[in-house]
Amino acid sequence: MLRSLHMKLVLIMVLLIVSLMTVVGAFLLNSVVGFYISEFYTQVSGVFADEALVRDLTTPTAGEESGAEGIKSVLDTCAGALGVDGRTRNYYILDGHTGAVLEGTTEEDDLLDYTRNLTTAISTGEVGDARNVAASYMDVAIPIERGSTDYIIYIYDNGATVESLNSELMVIIIQALVFGLAISVLLSFLLSKTIIGPIEQLTAGAEQVAAGDFGHKLEVASRDEVGVLTGTFNDMAQRLQDTIQQVESERNKLDTLFLRMTDGVVAFSREGGVIHSNPAAGELLHAPIDSLTRYEDLFADIAPLETVMNAPTPPGYLEGEREVWGRVLELLLAPFDRESQGGGVLVVVHDVTEQRKTEEMRKEFVANVSHELRTPLTNILSYAETLYDSGGDLPEETERNFLGVILNETQRMTGLVQDLLVLSRLDSGRTELQLSEVDMRALLKETGQANLMEARRHHHTLTVDVPDVLPTVRADRDRILQVLMNVVSNAIKYTPDGGTIRISAGFARREVWVEVEDNGIGVPPEERSRIFERFYRVDKARARESGGTGLGLSIAKELVERHGGSIRAMDKEGPGLAIRVVLPVEGPSHG
Ligand code: ADP
Repeated sequence: MLRSLHMKLVLIMVLLIVSLMTVVGAFLLNSVVGFYISEFYTQVSGVFADEALVRDLTTPTAGEESGAEGIKSVLDTCAGALGVDGRTRNYYILDGHTGAVLEGTTEEDDLLDYTRNLTTAISTGEVGDARNVAASYMDVAIPIERGSTDYIIYIYDNGATVESLNSELMVIIIQALVFGLAISVLLSFLLSKTIIGPIEQLTAGAEQVAAGDFGHKLEVASRDEVGVLTGTFNDMAQRLQDTIQQVESERNKLDTLFLRMTDGVVAFSREGGVIHSNPAAGELLHAPIDSLTRYEDLFADIAPLETVMNAPTPPGYLEGEREVWGRVLELLLAPFDRESQGGGVLVVVHDVTEQRKTEEMRKEFVANVSHELRTPLTNILSYAETLYDSGGDLPEETERNFLGVILNETQRMTGLVQDLLVLSRLDSGRTELQLSEVDMRALLKETGQANLMEARRHHHTLTVDVPDVLPTVRADRDRILQVLMNVVSNAIKYTPDGGTIRISAGFARREVWVEVEDNGIGVPPEERSRIFERFYRVDKARARESGGTGLGLSIAKELVERHGGSIRAMDKEGPGLAIRVVLPVEGPSHG
């Protein structure tokens, strides 16, 4: 670029000088030749306009031998005025009829050509002074009559003076040209310093920007157009840098989002090749996704690529579902940039396993609640109808029995509804814990005391085995009591009469643990984790018989977890079951 600019500048200067010198040279040469020619004719006509001279030329002197000699002697007196020098310019005196040379300033008359002017003068007797620009010589032939004899005075200039003048001029012009060229080269260097220098700097800056280096600021050295251009270039580079930074940070954000998002995303080109994919997509689909993976390898079963590209709007996408390694995946296949060649298909893979599980659980829960309520209601209805239909005919004892059943079932329903209310409050987070420093030793003693009567009724041995020192726990006392009461009453319920129930406690790693162990019917190991599920009962008939709702342990689990603790059935060899509750001494980390 610079080189070419520099060369262009030199070329322009050289052309300028050459053309200028050519025009000036041509003009000069032409003027000199023109001047010389007109000077010749002016001289000749000036001399012959002198009447005294013409008289001397035409009047023969007394006793002269030859008229030509007389003319010669007159002409010699005005040789200077005619510019006759005997070398380049001569005069000749010719016979007016024959054209023979009689006298002359040079002897080389045989060299004399009979030019047009001379021929005119000889043949017509008129003055021959026609100018011939093309000829290298100049001449004038003047007929003259001296006495009674006709002569012709012929003045001839061979043009050698003009020629030598021309060649001298030529030399001067060529010298001027050489000087001019040297100056033009020098000037072009100077110009390149002042004009091309800043442009060169600008070019280097532009190249740096093009290479991605925006930090380099160009110096604004002048206030001319190049200076303004440099300033504008700096502004442009700055704005470009800002914009690129913004775009980069946005892209980084999107990249991070794309990489970290839990949903899988795979973008395919119109031809079916993978353009982009995030790690989640490969993990969810359990398939390695790389540049060689094709749309058909992954989603051919959902819909062909062409169908997705032509998905009707609305909704503008197709849906699919797939089960991969026990997880339910929802697939959304949408075309993008349909009109452009760069378009393709975007597939979003969403793991809906938990969602489906929750939905299942909700359905199951509603079914369980309906079932749990229907059984007591059916009983109440049938006993109440029988009582109503009998119209008081039934024996009093039977009536009391019937009323007893109705009462029982109503109580069970009330208990169930209450438990459901507690759970719903816990679920919605509306249950506020009344936290205080709870003396666990006292709480466990109280639990043992409260269950003692019921245990005795079933001939159980109930022991409370608590260490003398147990730290206080930050907790809602009533809720923890509710949990312990539930666990202990279960132990009493699910242990055949005459069993042993032991409440023990301990402290380790800033946690207090409580264990309630019985030697009752127990729970098979594979079902132990499930007893905390809502409405889960190992032996449905027996549990219902004992008045259980199947919600006690799930409420206990919710409450303990709200305290930041845990509840689980211990791995223990039968008979019986051991439930362990662990509570952090600091209480829940929030609320
Ligand atoms: P329920 O009101 O039916 O007792 P829970 O949620 O308290 O409901 O208990 C869930 C199920 O766990 C019970 O139905 C029972 O089958 C089992 N279970 C709980 N505690 C014991 C235990 N100590 N021994 C044997 N099985 C138990």
